[in-house]
Amino acid sequence: MTFARVRHFPARSAKMQSVRTFTHDRWHFPLPPANRFPQEKYRLVRERVQRLPGVEVCEGPPISWDDALLVHDAEWIRRIRYGLLTRHEEAALGLTRSPELAQRTLHATGSTVAATRSALTDGVAAALGGGTHHAQRAVGRGYCLVNDVAVSLQLIRLSGFIGKCLILDLDVHQGDGNADCFTDDPDVFVVSIHGEQNYPFVRVPSDIDIDVPDRTGDDGYLALLDGVLDDLNHHAPFDLAFLLCDADPWQGDRLGRLSLTIPGLEERDRRAITWIRDRGTPLVITLAGGYGEPIETTADIQARSVALAAERG
Ligand SMILES: [Zn+2]
Repeated sequence: MTFARVRHFPARSAKMQSVRTFTHDRWHFPLPPANRFPQEKYRLVRERVQRLPGVEVCEGPPISWDDALLVHDAEWIRRIRYGLLTRHEEAALGLTRSPELAQRTLHATGSTVAATRSALTDGVAAALGGGTHHAQRAVGRGYCLVNDVAVSLQLIRLSGFIGKCLILDLDVHQGDGNADCFTDDPDVFVVSIHGEQNYPFVRVPSDIDIDVPDRTGDDGYLALLDGVLDDLNHHAPFDLAFLLCDADPWQGDRLGRLSLTIPGLEERDRRAITWIRDRGTPLVITLAGGYGEPIETTADIQARSVALAAERG
């Protein structure tokens, strides 16, 4: 099977570099009626990103099951691939097993792999999803089956990448999967800034974990972010950065508790992207969490994150 580009939008001016983004929104999986996973969000984000000047929307090839084994235990991958997840495992994931879910996982992870390869050549790229940061080596949970960032990094290493990597995770939920996957990896520095009272309630420690209290608001949050960025100066330079700029810290998100406004989220993204790009570090954006009501607002926020990254391409 070949995967053609979805659509190409030329840059508005010759001076503006085109930034590539990668979607997987064509791949769907069945959800029980009561399940609130926002599957339509991925299409809504892609439609908004297609309207951005200087941004291409593409589809990357799916990863293979062998690619997933570069990170995950064989038994966990076998259980996803052959639909062997137990009810307990499905409950932890918040998703129901299906062949379509397994296939979508390969395509979703492939989008982040393609974005990572593009960032290394172009400077900036984005996966219009990704950020599956609750997937640990031996088990997945919280909507995350395969850890896209970990698989991407292992694949580019096989292609010759050697260098130091930063994962800056701004999802409202702590990135326990990233912490687990890179526990013993001295070349990956994992940072998670998340809600103190949010899932997961059993954490895996990152290199830097910042617990943000409920209802912190924009000013308090941005001060915490600035402190982390100052601290990161002691760990730089990095040769690659993944930024999980999720929309779930928004005050209108049904899972967020931090009371960030939309301008506050935009300023969060601007400061993080600026810190990374001012140092010349290739940047991979992933979007991941975002469960606002209405979901269109979340799609607006996430498309804005991509626009900000494209401006710094
Ligand atoms: Zn989240």
